Amino acid sequence: MALVASLDTSEHLLAPPPRPTTSGRNDGFSFWKLPEDWRASPELLNDQSEESARHFLYEEYLSAEHRQPPPRMNAYYRVKDFIPPTMRHWLNSAAIQLRGKRSFPHWPVESALLDFWRSWLRSSMEFRRANDDWHIGFWPSGKKCCIVLTHDVESASGMKRIERMADIEEKYGFRSAWNLPLAQYRVDWNMVDRLRARGFEFGAHGLSHDGRLFRSATDFSELTPIIERLAHMHQMQGFRSPSTLRRAEWIAMMNFDFDCSFSDTDPYEPQPGGTCSLFPFFLGDLVELPYTLPQDHTLINLVHRDPLALWSTKAQWIESIGGMILTLTHPDYSGSGYYLSQYEALLKRLSGFQAWRALPSEVATWWRERDRMTLSLSGDTPVIVGPGAERAVARRLSTEPLAN
Ligand SMILES: [Zn+2]
Repeated sequence: MALVASLDTSEHLLAPPPRPTTSGRNDGFSFWKLPEDWRASPELLNDQSEESARHFLYEEYLSAEHRQPPPRMNAYYRVKDFIPPTMRHWLNSAAIQLRGKRSFPHWPVESALLDFWRSWLRSSMEFRRANDDWHIGFWPSGKKCCIVLTHDVESASGMKRIERMADIEEKYGFRSAWNLPLAQYRVDWNMVDRLRARGFEFGAHGLSHDGRLFRSATDFSELTPIIERLAHMHQMQGFRSPSTLRRAEWIAMMNFDFDCSFSDTDPYEPQPGGTCSLFPFFLGDLVELPYTLPQDHTLINLVHRDPLALWSTKAQWIESIGGMILTLTHPDYSGSGYYLSQYEALLKRLSGFQAWRALPSEVATWWRERDRMTLSLSGDTPVIVGPGAERAVARRLSTEPLAN
């Protein structure tokens, strides 16, 4: 999304630029980006594949009541600020023990949607009597997988730890995104400018962690224009909901380029669920970038597991599939001491992957461009046409880990 450079009139503030159009589709054909001559095959059952994918991506396997913030959260948010943080973590951890285990999606790894994409492709190839074919690779320049580092900054003291974490990321050749609540504490905008100049990016983490945004239609329609205006004023293209409370249909209406409020699987959030996706997808016109490694807060404060071992195992699994490793850590929890050294050890491991290291905004742009590209064959040679096609690579399905 091209942002206006100068924000000198209130008209600019009130009218964020429109997002580039995309198909907004998450069907089998759009996911794999197959040659155009496939499109005409009625046996692809493409519309049905969109519906099946939506079952996972929009968390439709949950009842409507579980696809929105739980009502009991209202009582919690009324007293939250009066409970000391250690007590709060203990209470949250106890609440999770009481919640009982859901069998789906499995944590920390759930392959249901990957299995669906694979079996849809296989049966489509059988219908077409094809042994192999081409598709547009999932990532630019033939990279094997994608790594995206994101953070939510929960407090002013977390804000003070940003630069130290950023230095470590830079040391291993990474840049990351920092999501800031826009009305919770005083943001150091000079630091934001310094980090932007070094290639880091910033996103909106709602206004504050008060549980209001997705609580009711009235709250949503009251707060959303304020968030959008502030985000636009501070040149933030991305959004992550505070405490990842969410309603898919409402987020899809927000004026952001991309959202990161969903996970692939996370039974430990106040609103448990997961999209089962290790790839970006479309949430209406927004690109959704689900976080795919467990949050530091979950591992440290709720399930009391050492982060590094679990992060490493899952990151390797995602790499082996060719998906998107998207981390969500907080300087508040991982910005110093032992947990910072764990995070550094993760970065060291990730730096050995043959991956596209990208900012969330870059992945969103790529996913839109890939969506608009077409693939056709000129003789035996695959030809990709469309915006950004110069960095796209056609790959044989037989060499794609997810297809096999
Ligand atoms: Zn947060």
